[in-house]
Amino acid sequence: MAGEPQADCLFCKIVAGEVPATVVRESETTLAFRDINPQAPTHVLVIPKAHYPDAASLAAAAPGLAADVLREAGEVAAQEKITAEEDVPSKGYRIVFNTGSGAGQTVWHAHAHVLGGRGLNWPPG
Ligand code: IMP
Repeated sequence: MAGEPQADCLFCKIVAGEVPATVVRESETTLAFRDINPQAPTHVLVIPKAHYPDAASLAAAAPGLAADVLREAGEVAAQEKITAEEDVPSKGYRIVFNTGSGAGQTVWHAHAHVLGGRGLNWPPG
């Protein structure tokens, strides 16, 4: 059922404390932890504690929870001191939801990547 923990889901196991993670923030509905394979000096994943397979299904089924994830992503950026500063190229950050394997999604539990701490190119690869 939508939102229920999935036995074979890595991020549900992190929420349950069955797999270790470096947690940087937690709210009633979300968890934020460092990516195990960081692509930037700051690379944090923000997930809903409830299981939805990707960002689109999360937003469709639980828009309030999707908003919680986005708000927490902004709080992570503030906590990590990567929010935008005029004329400082290493400041500013990117929130990414890879959605679908063709876009690079590998874990089927919705998550926002919060990336920053260096200049970020556009378009992404
Ligand atoms: P995706 O490719 O957008 O689905 O992102 C999944 C992310 O999860 C990747 O950036 C992985 O490096 C990261 N990841 C995989 N396993 C773990 C883990 O156990 N802890 C933290 N991050 C993980």
